[in-house]
Amino acid sequence: MKAMVFHGARDFRYDDYAEPKLTGERDMIIRVEKCSICGSDLHMYNGKKLGPLDYSLVKMNFCVGHEGIGEVVEVGAAVKKHKVGDRVLLAGGVGCGKCRRCLKGEFSLCESKTVLPYGFSPMLQGLQAEYALVKEADLSALTIPEGVNDEQALLLTDSLATGFLGAVKADVQPGKSVAVIGQGPIGKTAMESAFALGAERVYAIDPSAFRRGKAAELGAIPLAPEEAVDRIMQDTHGLGVDCVIEAVGKEETVKQAIRIAAAGGNVAILGVVERGMQTSLMQAQLKSLTIFAGVAGVADSWPKLVPLVQEGKIRGEGMFTHEFALADGAQAYELFNTGQDTVLKVLIKV
Ligand SMILES: [Zn+2]
Ligand SMILES: [Zn+2]
Repeated sequence: MKAMVFHGARDFRYDDYAEPKLTGERDMIIRVEKCSICGSDLHMYNGKKLGPLDYSLVKMNFCVGHEGIGEVVEVGAAVKKHKVGDRVLLAGGVGCGKCRRCLKGEFSLCESKTVLPYGFSPMLQGLQAEYALVKEADLSALTIPEGVNDEQALLLTDSLATGFLGAVKADVQPGKSVAVIGQGPIGKTAMESAFALGAERVYAIDPSAFRRGKAAELGAIPLAPEEAVDRIMQDTHGLGVDCVIEAVGKEETVKQAIRIAAAGGNVAILGVVERGMQTSLMQAQLKSLTIFAGVAGVADSWPKLVPLVQEGKIRGEGMFTHEFALADGAQAYELFNTGQDTVLKVLIKV
């Protein structure tokens, strides 16, 4: 089959790749219909370090991508929720499938520490391919629900789950004020989630005028990073906002998150944090902040998130700014990597 294959930094190719085979009775195979590129894929693309792997040194070839939807073509004997012909969306990764956390869909908290994302190593084939093996299918795949379009289904595989986690962990509630730092796909879904959870006011901070414009279209107050602190302090009479969602992961944005949070407030850090980050917790402690830093389990978010999408409270509209065929995947990566001023998220049709 054909797939997008890692050959090294800045060298992802549309290439031949071994077709997946059903290995376990709880697994299934899908024919991938659509997939998307995530900001975290760019860490690999640019040969950076991510978790235990340094992608500038990785010499293995493997199929990439962890956000995908498709049609079930083969199911293992123990799969109960899916049958051939169903259209499904997948969680971006899986856990062991047996521990208490995994059984609740909290794959990022897997107790046997076998958190396995699709497409970051040869351990689990990626989803930017014609076919893919789905591990622990009953726990990690969801039949695309009625009232959820394909773009929304793709967002439910990762971005929406992550943004929503941020809004929940930042304790967004009706009437609260919120700031979201970063307006990439995660920040944007966090902002939408904040409104869906009843936020009274949402500030959207990003250096890109294009991304600020997108945020303003959805009702957020757009702010450039250099004006954000002054403006927020002025608006809140020097108190800061109740909830901050950080969706960048840089030292300066984490510091800014702590800076603009009100005393007793909540900060949720979603951005993939830089190595060696130095952030003093003194200000956070003096303000008695609750700080969360984490990764979405994804499947655990669906019971709450899907109804919000179906009711139109979270739409994810305007997220996919570009579309490519799988055969043009290399171009898609190049564009996504360089065009942050015009690109939000890239959809790939298989
Ligand atoms: Zn992703
Ligand atoms: Zn587990």
